Amino acid sequence: MAKILDGKAVAAEVRAEVASGVAELKEKGVPVRLDVVLVGADPASVTYVSSKERDSAEVGIESRVHRYPDDVPQEELAALVGQLNGNPAVSGFFIQLPLPDGLDPVPLVSRIDPAKDVDGLSPMSAGRLAVGLPSLLPCTPHGIIRLLKANGIDLAGTEAVVVGRSNLVGKPLAQLLLRENATVTVCHSRTRDLPSVTRRADVLVVAAGRREMVGSEHVGEGAVVVDVGIHRRDGAGLVGDVRLEEVEPKAAWISPVAGGVGPMTRAMLLHNALQAARMAAEAALR
Ligand code: NAP
Repeated sequence: MAKILDGKAVAAEVRAEVASGVAELKEKGVPVRLDVVLVGADPASVTYVSSKERDSAEVGIESRVHRYPDDVPQEELAALVGQLNGNPAVSGFFIQLPLPDGLDPVPLVSRIDPAKDVDGLSPMSAGRLAVGLPSLLPCTPHGIIRLLKANGIDLAGTEAVVVGRSNLVGKPLAQLLLRENATVTVCHSRTRDLPSVTRRADVLVVAAGRREMVGSEHVGEGAVVVDVGIHRRDGAGLVGDVRLEEVEPKAAWISPVAGGVGPMTRAMLLHNALQAARMAAEAALR
């Protein structure tokens, strides 16, 4: 039976580290502040933003939410991004996605100063990651690497297969796995004979956004399986992209949904806010 990659436990360690780092900076007179841009009243976005506010408060990070109606002009948001970039009191910020129809997130996210890009999703941050320059890393892929390392899983030389090539998860994760010296294959909806590719994996990460798509036929004996997908179960609770009951007897490690990747994503946002504040404090001393 697979051992559990306990994201809740590792996220608690990350939060404790962040809380002590935030306290240390505060003593030096550097408060850490994380701002959020929230447009419209999409219930999922509103819930995510309030949980991020709660998470921040728990580790001593101040947070501010900039709320706008659905019909805010694109230019007003662009101006806000400029102001947040230029405000030294703001350690980092992000735009809660998706934006309502009619607003284009790409030029807005592209304007975020990479030093404050706590989501790590701007083209500049993605480019820096790709060429191996220091950058704030996207929270979900970074959280996955941290979760694997915290459980003593050495990625060097392993065959890693990522299902999904989104800018949010699949592509940056492939870069991070390469950085860890894994041999990386990225699959997508046009991959031929997916099970024959995924069965080769020592480390299989599934971020396809397809409910319970991956079963025992996709997984080799003793693989490490990370399930990124999140789907509401018909009754109650959540399921992922992996059929847990089928894969558990075959895998060496598996991340549950919930309590796997989700808490890691949330914790790495706090980690990034602290890192952004530290970088700004160091830059001010230079
Ligand atoms: P996305 O933008 O929809 O990307 C999905 C990727 O999976 C695409 O590259 C797509 O291929 C590929 N794919 C879809 N069906 C496939 C199939 N049958 N076979 C192989 N590949 C397939 O999704 P995302 O934003 O990366 O998110 C993926 C999942 O993770 C979602 O369930 C999301 O809710 C969840 N998520 C969870 C967290 C967390 O913290 N736990 C964070 C982010 C996302 P094409 O490129 O060819 O279309």
